[in-house]
Amino acid sequence: MALIVHKYGGTSMGSTERIKNVAKRVAKWHDAGHQVVVVPSAMSGETNRLIGLAKEMMEYPDPRELDMIASTGEQVSVGLLALGLMSLGKKAVSYAGWQVGIKTDSAFTKARIQSIDDSRIKADLNEGKIVIITGFQGVDEDDNIATLGRGGSDTSAVAIAAAIKADECLIYTDVDGVYTTDPRVVSDARRLKTITFEEMLELASQGSKVLQSRSVEFAGNYRVPTRVLSSLTDPLMPLAEEAQSGTLISFEEDNMEQAVISGIAFLRDEAKITVLGVPDKPGVAFHILGPIAEANIEVDMIIQNQSVAGKTDFTFTVSRNDYHKAMGVLEQIKGNIGAEEIIGDTKVSKVSVVGVGMRSHVGIAAKMFETLAKEGINILMISTSEIKITVLIDEKYMELAVRALHKAFELDKE
Ligand code: ASP
Ligand code: MG
Repeated sequence: MALIVHKYGGTSMGSTERIKNVAKRVAKWHDAGHQVVVVPSAMSGETNRLIGLAKEMMEYPDPRELDMIASTGEQVSVGLLALGLMSLGKKAVSYAGWQVGIKTDSAFTKARIQSIDDSRIKADLNEGKIVIITGFQGVDEDDNIATLGRGGSDTSAVAIAAAIKADECLIYTDVDGVYTTDPRVVSDARRLKTITFEEMLELASQGSKVLQSRSVEFAGNYRVPTRVLSSLTDPLMPLAEEAQSGTLISFEEDNMEQAVISGIAFLRDEAKITVLGVPDKPGVAFHILGPIAEANIEVDMIIQNQSVAGKTDFTFTVSRNDYHKAMGVLEQIKGNIGAEEIIGDTKVSKVSVVGVGMRSHVGIAAKMFETLAKEGINILMISTSEIKITVLIDEKYMELAVRALHKAFELDKE
């Protein structure tokens, strides 16, 4: 017997018909002798619909009230799934996050889970019940409902799995695992059987949308074995086969046979901003990026040029959505920081190769740059971490770059 958490995304919960299939699948795991906790998302489209209603009332809805509204989608899901399981003759009980002590901070619409009380969940499981808990939400210390940000049910599931010390957290979704890159861009992209959580974290933060990146942080910090697998298979397929399907997010030491590069991620909608001719003295970076951070704009790659005659240029990237806001901030402080000019480019994209094998292999960067050079793709910026190399390039070459790199690193081969 194992203790397993299942998470089902919006597509998997998309209609009562699909929820009945989820119930069959969950019942199958319970029949096999496992204890099961299920964390569903809202039915697909429902969270968008709820947020849309809020926006009809107020252009920028108050965040606390928005969370009150948005959190209801998952309440419907858990209740429906409990009914589905009951009609299969199972004992099942549904809870909203607050009813099982999921405590968050008060950052409405992007709250972080702080603690979970496992006592009620454990008691129910020991009585043979299947426990169903709303994803995406908890309550703050004053019992205000707070949601975890879009895609937050992944994080709920992994956090619950950590709290109850589950043996595995199974994330059922509309893709059958994690791929070497987006199959819509590279047709021979391959599903990975395993990936380390660090690689998954880099891929999630660099554009892979399979899991919310915070859920991967949780899985890593609390060492929760997490598997991404399809909910679109036959719910009654043999359990042993299902349990080995998809992609397991594992820990590096369990994964010695890893390829050097595991995947290629990309973010199409980036923008680059350059502040030209600022005096090169202590505090430049702070005076430029401080106000950007205060405006809640996330900065990614940063370069400061060699200074010439006491002046330097400073370049950084932001998500394209934040470009106008960032330019507005900089125009205001331009005089104070003594900049000559501020220029920008909104037609740039980011491509990253990711792999823990970089720690033990040299020449990965050289191979990446060689591959791009052969395709005639100019690199605008480079940044690296221990297991990732990222380049910023012209948007129009993004897909070409991803395809060429996928081939050069032989990701199409087993
Ligand atoms: N229902 C929420 C959303 O659409 C949370 C989730 O699905 O993970 O973002
Ligand atoms: Mg999701």
